[in-house]
Amino acid sequence: MPLPPITGHHEARRRFALAVRSGKLPQVLLLSGPPGIGKQRLALWLGQLALCQQPGEGPCGSCRACRLVEGLAHADLHWFVPIPRPKSADGDKQLEEAAESIAGVAAERRNKPLYAPADGMAGHSMASVRLLLRRASLTSVEGGRRVFIIGEAERLVLQESSPEAANALLKLLEEPPAGSLFILTAVDPRRLLPTMRSRAVGVRLHRLSNEEVRDFLRSEMHPALTAAQLEERVALAAGSIGDALTQGDSADKAFRAARNLLDAVLAGTGPMLERALQQPPYAARGEFAAMLDALADTLGEAARGTMGQPVRRPLPDAFQRHAGPAPFLRAMERVDLAREAAAGNVNPQILLAVLGEELAEVL
Ligand SMILES: [Zn+2]
Repeated sequence: MPLPPITGHHEARRRFALAVRSGKLPQVLLLSGPPGIGKQRLALWLGQLALCQQPGEGPCGSCRACRLVEGLAHADLHWFVPIPRPKSADGDKQLEEAAESIAGVAAERRNKPLYAPADGMAGHSMASVRLLLRRASLTSVEGGRRVFIIGEAERLVLQESSPEAANALLKLLEEPPAGSLFILTAVDPRRLLPTMRSRAVGVRLHRLSNEEVRDFLRSEMHPALTAAQLEERVALAAGSIGDALTQGDSADKAFRAARNLLDAVLAGTGPMLERALQQPPYAARGEFAAMLDALADTLGEAARGTMGQPVRRPLPDAFQRHAGPAPFLRAMERVDLAREAAAGNVNPQILLAVLGEELAEVL
């Protein structure tokens, strides 16, 4: 199955097409914007345009390169997606594992192009970075450009244990090899290392219009939604196709868990501790991380709400006592730290008990 059609981002596309035609496309780009608006889809579109044999306002869609990209089978387009951390202790085996996982995700997306967000625990480990470095050191297979997409670049872990690889990556982005194009995507570019951010030309993308989301759902969702379902999804999606697609399944579950946690925090120490102890100790880490992501997202909504911006999901009434965003931003910081700790070997029950206490202090 080909990639789903690209939706929206017309201005960015126009500028990219112009840059490709005039040979002025920067070699390192960072596409940022809200989750689910199609940043990686746009990165693939740009990769396709860069590789296309007859590029115009967009990729021609019919040349060999275009067809290969649409089938996620172009040998010079490397799409790095967040994957589980390789288990092997051996460096070379880790690299193989990472390559297999990434190929596995590509195969899944060929079958099911409308994919759900990556698991909360998935990331770009040092094995992925080393794989990227190795691939970047090779020459083009098809004889043209080479494109490297790093989706959700904020999940890039530049561990201190491998400073050589981290430095090599920064060096690669500073002096990309001729004919190579690096496209990073991120929801929040501030979460990238400043050294990395400074090497990329930033392109800020915005939410899609309701019409764009509606048209997409109408043509791509099978079985089709009823008119009422369609309108409900469009309204809840608030310009994010990703949100429109994930409503009703795992994302919903994560948001319900996050809301349940917030209610417990606001109800006091007793309910909070009870909630923490209900957290499965070590299993379901992905779900735990997804809950923390949903929690950060909910707090972000609350912060935006205090600034008079529309809020996409119901928030606890008690949040109304805060007139400004500061308490919510402080709470998000705590969740961020917990999110980092969750990637390590910390007992989620203890983590949640501590986080609950911290949230109760600021909210
Ligand atoms: Zn083409």
